[in-house]
Amino acid sequence: MTFSYTIGEYGCTKCSNTRSEYSATMSFPYVIAAFLAALALSFVLFREPWNFPWYYFFCIFAGELLLLFIAGFPLTLFKLVTGGGSIVRRCPACGGQMTFRGQHISKSQRPRRTDSVLLLLFCALNVAVWVKLYHHV
Ligand SMILES: [Zn+2]
Repeated sequence: MTFSYTIGEYGCTKCSNTRSEYSATMSFPYVIAAFLAALALSFVLFREPWNFPWYYFFCIFAGELLLLFIAGFPLTLFKLVTGGGSIVRRCPACGGQMTFRGQHISKSQRPRRTDSVLLLLFCALNVAVWVKLYHHV
């Protein structure tokens, strides 16, 4: 399982302090999570009382990918709040301004904290979908 990240690199203008900010991006484990969730959901939707035809699976899968996308919003908001709402960062060592030095993509075998939070939010959204579903029966 390989997770991908976009990493923003920041450097201090006064000292040599650097900082990397990880953002989760769509990677294979997420596609699997969405696929499994879509599989579980179609198991219910393909039966009574919905009786969706088999090709609706693609729509359900697309819906799950959309849920993943939605799960990322709170994380982005959280980043904005902790980052002071701007691109400007303060150096934790000297308090100087940190400037953005570029962004690159990296991979990791081990999930980071953002991945756990994102998958947790994704699960919570799925629970909400299931609860909504059962209230319609
Ligand atoms: Zn500094």
